[in-house]
Amino acid sequence: MTDSLSLPSGNWPQLEPGWVWLCGAGPGDPGLLTLHAINGLQQADVVIYDALVQKAILDWAPQAEHIYAGKRGGKPSAKQRDISLRLVELAKAGKRVLRLKGGDPFVFGRGGEEAQTLIQHGVPVRIIPGISAGIGGLAYAGIPVTHRDVNQSVTFVTGHDQTGETPTSLNWKAIAEGAQVLVIYMGMKHVERIAGALLDAGRPADEPCAVVSSATTEDQQVLETTLGNMAADIAESGLEPPAILCVGRSVLMRQVLDWQALMRGEAPRNLDPLGRGRPAETS
Ligand code: SAH
Repeated sequence: MTDSLSLPSGNWPQLEPGWVWLCGAGPGDPGLLTLHAINGLQQADVVIYDALVQKAILDWAPQAEHIYAGKRGGKPSAKQRDISLRLVELAKAGKRVLRLKGGDPFVFGRGGEEAQTLIQHGVPVRIIPGISAGIGGLAYAGIPVTHRDVNQSVTFVTGHDQTGETPTSLNWKAIAEGAQVLVIYMGMKHVERIAGALLDAGRPADEPCAVVSSATTEDQQVLETTLGNMAADIAESGLEPPAILCVGRSVLMRQVLDWQALMRGEAPRNLDPLGRGRPAETS
């Protein structure tokens, strides 16, 4: 019932002609859009959206032209330049432009590059953050990205660099030794190498891992596995990108926090998966 929702009157920013709003669409579920995103969608002349943006989200901008700027799997970045210049062109033509990107535009989304190009060309920009898949997607799988008994830090990593290869600039040994919980974006293609590098650097083979694919959408699938088995289990499961990989004991919390299973009427698998032996609220 999209048309029943209108923003309460107030000081909502206007998307002016000649402006680009660089906006996060969240991981998939349209309910995870921000109000600023809705406000922008309702005013835009043009929405330029990425492959990972769910089509239902475009229903919020029926008046706008919808332009697909999809780019998947770390393909060459020449196209990125085309997209940025297209945004400049549209803005200079006096359009109200909403650039819609999956998750958060500044998290592995090249939003920084696009915004930089726009500003270099004198185009005014507003940035609208979104819920990143590495946080919201895990939450939909019942995995808290931090949990007091598990981690006091999170490391977000990309499994691809600009060339589509495992990033060589990353010191996987340092990451393996220093990261408490790892959240890996774009990790499916090179999962074998990534898991191998972490194991070589001393992470235990039985460390809990999860793979959450198409998180927050109707096609969401979650695989629970271990670091040693992750690559083989992904291959066997047939799970496809987009997917977030999570390495760390926070994955165990899913045994109690898989709220989607609870909604389906299933019982929690384990009320105390970390074995604290006392109620969660006593510290
Ligand atoms: N800016 C985005 C990330 C873009 S990089 C964000 O903040 O979420 C693309 C990667 O994000 C994918 O390869 C995948 O690892 C992850 N991703 C995005 N949407 C996802 C989803 N719905 N489910 C699982 N992973 C997702």
